[in-house]
Amino acid sequence: MSGEGCPCGSGKGFDLCCEPYLAGKALPETAEALMRSRYSAYVRQLIPYLKETLWPRDAPVAAARGSICAVNLILPERPCPKPQRP
Ligand SMILES: [Zn+2]
Repeated sequence: MSGEGCPCGSGKGFDLCCEPYLAGKALPETAEALMRSRYSAYVRQLIPYLKETLWPRDAPVAAARGSICAVNLILPERPCPKPQRP
């Protein structure tokens, strides 16, 4: 147990949030969890995870077979941060 906050900003500990996905111990169950895990992988430079979770090249074929489904990603409304000038 690391006790550090997850890079995705969920407010949970890394070990209770994205770490199991990045370690290959679990699969994200929602589109948001997948998105958050990909962001955490980016922060930690876990490039293989980013490659593994890319949209597969044959996704249209899988969609036609009904093996994947479309999801709506709903995120809380937040104001866009203003760009900071150095
Ligand atoms: Zn996370």
